[in-house]
Amino acid sequence: MFDVLVIGSGASGLAAALAAERAGARVALATKGSIQACNSAKAQGGIQAAVGPDDSPEQHAQDIWTSSHETANMELVETLTSSAPSAIHWLEELGVAFTRDADGAYRLARCGGATRKRLLQVGDRTGHAITKALRDAVEASTVARFPNAPLHELVSDGGWRARVGAHDVEAATVVLAAGGRCFREAEERGELSTNHPGATGEVTRLALDAGAEARDLDALQYHPNGGAWPANMQGYSIPETTRAYGAVLLNADGEEFTDSLGARDVVSQAIVDEVAKGKGVETPDGRPAVYLDTTRIPVADAEVSLPYMLRRYRAAGVDPLAEPILTYPVLHYQNGGLVIDTDAQTTLEGVFACGEIAGGTHGRNRMMGNSLLECVVFGRRAGRAAATAAR
Ligand SMILES: Cc1cc2nc3c(=O)[nH]c(=O)nc-3n(C[C@H](O)[C@H](O)[C@H](O)COP(=O)(O)OP(=O)(O)OC[C@H]3O[C@@H](n4cnc5c(N)ncnc54)[C@H](O)[C@@H]3O)c2cc1C
Repeated sequence: MFDVLVIGSGASGLAAALAAERAGARVALATKGSIQACNSAKAQGGIQAAVGPDDSPEQHAQDIWTSSHETANMELVETLTSSAPSAIHWLEELGVAFTRDADGAYRLARCGGATRKRLLQVGDRTGHAITKALRDAVEASTVARFPNAPLHELVSDGGWRARVGAHDVEAATVVLAAGGRCFREAEERGELSTNHPGATGEVTRLALDAGAEARDLDALQYHPNGGAWPANMQGYSIPETTRAYGAVLLNADGEEFTDSLGARDVVSQAIVDEVAKGKGVETPDGRPAVYLDTTRIPVADAEVSLPYMLRRYRAAGVDPLAEPILTYPVLHYQNGGLVIDTDAQTTLEGVFACGEIAGGTHGRNRMMGNSLLECVVFGRRAGRAAATAAR
């Protein structure tokens, strides 16, 4: 018998497990594949927090409200943005080393929809750095780990009884941190996705069947810049920081047709519309695309902030600093999810949800860099609240 059972080992599940354990709970963490397997580790671009001298949590919140087209839950948004600086410090205490400029200040980028430079990065492998630090801390803790143990069944019996893989686990409270469903959705639509194969959404279905409420589940996000060519880069998410550092979208005639740093859904739609007008280009295997002119990125910025992207493309035979690359939107993120309050409590008593499985914080359109932040802020809140509720 555990106090808290966490489902999923992405950034949100790891943060929740750690926070619950530090609050004195006996914690179990069950996940579908290996502990490393998740979308969080694939995140490249960065994590938002208002730490710049011209910025504030209020401005950050306002940008989310605008980018969400006024659909986000502002109570959740204000919790997210006001907790962001302390979330960054917590990650640093766990060993995450955010990239800094020569003067020692954080290297901040402006991401789509943002009015300020607010995106902290660890090179272009931010998700890898964050999940590694969280995983190391969980592995050094008393959290009992059940890898290769997908949740099949969740039954309320005073507390909660869960069937995870071949194990029956009982816990007073449960934190659902099983991510979104874009891998499955893309397979069903015959489209490309940036997602890990574990992103299939069955835990949301189990929660809905148990009576939980959800919002905006139909609002799926396309990443504006999926790799379109070479073939082995198809479905790769070209970091939005390419555009933050100067890359622009161009049509077949070399014309800029949209604000390359607009909100994600607006930029994705602009690309789709441009191709529909016959102003796109075709990949050698017949897929639609436009150009992302990455040659405009200063070499020094690319070397510090995009080394992984450069390595991947150069290994595939294309140098993004010498020629534009081909791109088209790909299915990327589940904007909506289970309804939660500011303690990440769902509408089911004793069941908490954090990360991509939860809805409201981004409304119907997420800004880049706010998902990793949501994982840390609401993962910690879920873990602490689940530990308290278990007592
Ligand atoms: C390629 C890519 C790049 C991205 N870049 C950024 C970025 O730069 N900045 C940003 O903020 N966001 C970014 N995102 C989005 C962000 O990384 C994710 O939305 C976020 O990390 C999701 O975290 P999570 O903990 O909710 O879910 P995940 O990290 O997806 O973890 C879910 C976990 O649940 C497990 N699971 C699933 N089903 C079950 C089940 N039935 N039983 C048990 N366990 C289960 C999975 O195996 C996994 O361990 C990116 C996403 C991708 C795919």
